[in-house]
Amino acid sequence: MIPAKFDYIKASSVNEAIDLLDKHGFDAKILSGGHSLIPAMKLRLNQPEVVIDISAIPGMNTITEDGDEIVIGANCTHNEILKSDLINNELNILAQAAKTIGDIQVRNRGTIGGSLAHADPSADYPATVLACEATIVAEGKNGSRTIAAADFFQGIFTTALEDEEIITAIRFPKVANGNYQKFYQSASRFAVVGVAVVKNGDAVKVGVTGVADTPYRATAVENAYDGTSSAASHAVDGVEVMSDHFADTEYRSHLAKVYVKKALEA
Ligand SMILES: Cc1cc2nc3c(=O)[nH]c(=O)nc-3n(C[C@H](O)[C@H](O)[C@H](O)COP(=O)(O)OP(=O)(O)OC[C@H]3O[C@@H](n4cnc5c(N)ncnc54)[C@H](O)[C@@H]3O)c2cc1C
Repeated sequence: MIPAKFDYIKASSVNEAIDLLDKHGFDAKILSGGHSLIPAMKLRLNQPEVVIDISAIPGMNTITEDGDEIVIGANCTHNEILKSDLINNELNILAQAAKTIGDIQVRNRGTIGGSLAHADPSADYPATVLACEATIVAEGKNGSRTIAAADFFQGIFTTALEDEEIITAIRFPKVANGNYQKFYQSASRFAVVGVAVVKNGDAVKVGVTGVADTPYRATAVENAYDGTSSAASHAVDGVEVMSDHFADTEYRSHLAKVYVKKALEA
């Protein structure tokens, strides 16, 4: 399939990309790894007149330590994340999630910034970003701001980003004890259910993806946690559980409880 005709511009700085977004408005789309945007363009679900490629902007694919935080450039690919020593040592849960994404081609091209901006309800990183209480760094016409993960995902394919904002980095607190568990959709390998658990002393933080149209913190599990996995029975309390041809509501609810249990036990 061939996308509709579009102009292609390769931005060489964040400011240039923001200016281009501002100039072209609704007709423009940012391109990073292209592994969600290009399929959508081929299916004509997206028909931007201008595509602004940010993949070669210097400084957007670094992984660094900043005190108690790990700062990941938005253009880091899933493969760069899963291979990073810093992430494997200080934020292992993110490497666990990255390893489960798609196949080798997807992991070599797809980026963390693109995945978060796209906000697919079955994407893997959102559960981890929520459980880790990461912050998303966005830059736009009015400068730079940070958005808490809890405020970032606002609905299916919908985020708190303004039209002319781009994600430049994601800041994660270091996590010593975290686990990601996933039930794969057998064709695409997206998450039918994905669960991230971060344990700190006697408390847990639980992020869930794939289950509802927006990823969520399973606060009912967090509140009921007693050091065992029994709190997993609260995995979908208060949640409107999705239904599709991969898993209906009843089966998906069951899977959510099973995968929360697995992550708590791990
Ligand atoms: C076969 C296949 C299997 C996949 N399996 C999985 C899976 O198992 N788990 C999973 O989580 N994902 C999966 N994906 C999705 C993959 O991870 C994508 O790479 C990712 O969702 C989007 O990242 P990207 O860099 O490719 O973004 P792009 O496709 O370039 O962009 C996606 C969207 O985000 C916007 N955007 C991109 N970067 C930025 C930025 N820095 N700031 C603001 N907006 C931006 C674009 O304008 C576009 O709207 C799969 C994709 C394919 C094709």
